[in-house]
Amino acid sequence: MTEQIPHSSASPEYCDVALPVPLDRPFTYSLPETLRHRVKPGCRILVPFGSRKLSGFVLRCHDDAPDAEIRDALRLLDSAPILDESLLGLGRWISSYYCAPLGEVFRAMAPAGGEVRHGKVYTLTDSGRDALRQLTLAQVVEDPAVELMQMLELRSLSLPHLARHVPNATRLLRNLEKRGFVNAEDIDAQRDPLRAPASHLRVEPVTPPPPGKYKKAERELLAYLELHPGSHNLKDVAGVVKNGGEAARVLARRGILALRTEVSPISSAFAHAPHVLNPWQQAAYEQMRDAVRAREFRTFLLQGVTGSGKTEVYMNAIEAVLAEGRTALLLVPEIALTPAMAGQFFHRFGGRVAILHSAFGDSERAEHWRRVRSGEAGVIVGTRSGVFAPVANLGLVIIDEEHDGSYKQEETPRYNGRDVAIVRAQAAGACAVLGSATPSLESRYNADRGKYTLLRLPERIEQRPLPAVELIDMRVEFLETRRQSTFSRRLIEEVRARVENGEQTMLLLNRRGFSTFVACRACGERIQCVNCAVTLTYHRRDQRLLCHYCNYAERVPRVCPKCASEHIYFLGTGSERVEDELHRLIPEARITRMDRDTITGKRQYETILSAFREGSYDILVGTQMIAKGHDIPNVTLVGVISADTGLGMPDFRAAERTFQLLTQVAGRAGRGNLPGTVLIQTINPDHYAIRFAAAQDYNGFYERELEYRKMMRYPPFAALANVIVRSESRGDVLRVAAALGSLLTPPPEHVKVLGPAEAPVPRLKAEYRYQLLIKAASRKPLKQTLDTIRAYAADLKWPATSLVIDVDPLSLL
Ligand code: ADP
Ligand code: ZN
Ligand code: ZN
Repeated sequence: MTEQIPHSSASPEYCDVALPVPLDRPFTYSLPETLRHRVKPGCRILVPFGSRKLSGFVLRCHDDAPDAEIRDALRLLDSAPILDESLLGLGRWISSYYCAPLGEVFRAMAPAGGEVRHGKVYTLTDSGRDALRQLTLAQVVEDPAVELMQMLELRSLSLPHLARHVPNATRLLRNLEKRGFVNAEDIDAQRDPLRAPASHLRVEPVTPPPPGKYKKAERELLAYLELHPGSHNLKDVAGVVKNGGEAARVLARRGILALRTEVSPISSAFAHAPHVLNPWQQAAYEQMRDAVRAREFRTFLLQGVTGSGKTEVYMNAIEAVLAEGRTALLLVPEIALTPAMAGQFFHRFGGRVAILHSAFGDSERAEHWRRVRSGEAGVIVGTRSGVFAPVANLGLVIIDEEHDGSYKQEETPRYNGRDVAIVRAQAAGACAVLGSATPSLESRYNADRGKYTLLRLPERIEQRPLPAVELIDMRVEFLETRRQSTFSRRLIEEVRARVENGEQTMLLLNRRGFSTFVACRACGERIQCVNCAVTLTYHRRDQRLLCHYCNYAERVPRVCPKCASEHIYFLGTGSERVEDELHRLIPEARITRMDRDTITGKRQYETILSAFREGSYDILVGTQMIAKGHDIPNVTLVGVISADTGLGMPDFRAAERTFQLLTQVAGRAGRGNLPGTVLIQTINPDHYAIRFAAAQDYNGFYERELEYRKMMRYPPFAALANVIVRSESRGDVLRVAAALGSLLTPPPEHVKVLGPAEAPVPRLKAEYRYQLLIKAASRKPLKQTLDTIRAYAADLKWPATSLVIDVDPLSLL
């Protein structure tokens, strides 16, 4: 008998493709002769799907002829795989753990920008925005063109994305483009490096020039490059070799030279020479170093108070990893990845650093990505999606500010970058380090259980004291002054004193806008968004009422829309108003503000921050943006206008988030040689989140909060998922929610179901929402329950978008 050898052909006839569609299964296509040798798992391929063409990821190539008739794949989009074996494996894990279709997971894992994208991207223009605001409700509901514009109001989108949601998108977009309401941008064209200006390019030889005829400029250029090995800025070369710029482009097209986007020089202005570690830092570093050398998977929780020098420990650990010939990945929260922060790493690691930052232009991003993939860069710094960087030989993954909410992606696939990073480290046999002054309950609990190793930095650098925190009871303030004011007398006095002394102040109010709602005194009506069940916020500079959930905007009404009374009034204070009142109270102060209204791009964020750091302003007013990680030595006063904004949220994490925010913002004070003061205004001075934050007592808070979580069976004592049913039709939502309710009655073993009930925001972006909260004793019953729900939904052919499954949700709104 001959042995059966598994059949593996050098030129497979079929491939399985994961497509970015809600159907959670691969699709098989036959491969035309021309593609057979070239297709590999992890490459993207263009295939027909219904009447459309979609690009998906190749999962497998094989010769197993399917039973049904199948179609031909159209075009291979990558010459080499975009996702290697380990990333394909990570994608499978994400798909299963977070209940997200594999095709959508892979799409999210592929680099987000122009690195590998094709086709057009549409953006709403200013006149488009204005047009949108002048529409009546009827038009908003009826018109598919308006729907397109509303989708674009939130961000730029590609045609395939738009076409998936709106029929006839191509024709409608062409029309909108003609009317000047949208802008189309061709990404392929933009990303072609040959078109970039010479000063943005570097040139270097690839292969010795084949014999043949060359123009004079081409010969001179080649001679120059031979005499001066390495890569050069093209503009500099063109200054030496006449017509060298043109010649370089010609030779690059022939593949003799390479032209690459110049990576912009990153300022080292705030960088410093390596510090000698203090004993706490040294001890933490040594444990990391030993684990890296042992080449085993291990997770550390680095709990260091604000200003304890965590970054320095990271940098030393990264050096240890590089010394082992391995690579390191550092993830930071969205807003923390500033040029100043990148500069520190450049200063230390030079050309080995790659920064994966969405604020870079497409071609620059492509260049960083290429350097990661080619192995030129061994230190990768990125935000959430940086966890998918195509880096090989990983020895260390660091997640800075691990508690930060920006690691959670709030759209499909709803993964948490921190948790994915740990899984990735495990698969690579690497170490994971989670760093924070205020670790999430989950992480700290894992450390208590011995799943993670706890490392502590209990002191500030140079034993500087933590700032003195004082609570100001605003109820008492009201009784004493009989006035409802934004600033207590004490706070404004302290601010004034700082301005006089040339010291700096940061003021936090975690609510943007001028007034947080607008109401009618006659009938009590509060003006709500037309799309969402939330009140609109008054933005004075724009003279608009704005929805913070869907960006809907309308003019400020003169009379009440309900009863036509003229007694409209503006209530609740936002950051815009804080700035305004400060100008009146302390006219000589130089004030700047940082929130989503004053910041439209990342560069602007950095501009304000460095101007403040350099002393161009006395006071920085802002939302939680100002609380993150900044190290500004001259700040001696931090004021919190209201500590209560987040406490009322119907969310089991409300206390944790409040504690973290207050502790982090307090930690901005007194980081230099002058000691810091923190004043927190509140009407809940006895709330434990506020009390422990004022004492900067993480452990006290942790113990207390853990008790509550245990009693209520919330994470870390349960595995949690939030299942949201949503649709524009209220009837559909009720029907589906009720069906799920009965499907889960009685609930499966070890599972508890809360709801179905109206979601805390019962209507959002024009959709009605119901939710079921699934609490399970462990992962397995949770996963089984969610799979049951998904199978049921698929059987009944519910549109996939009407069911949102959020595993380990951060927000229950
Ligand atoms: P954290 O992230 O823990 O709040 P940082 O990493 O921002 O703290 O460090 C706070 C400041 O202390 C930074 O300015 C940093 O350069 C400085 N620093 C860190 N380690 C040392 C050290 N061993 N000696 C002196 N200064 C240090
Ligand atoms: Zn009214
Ligand atoms: Zn809205």
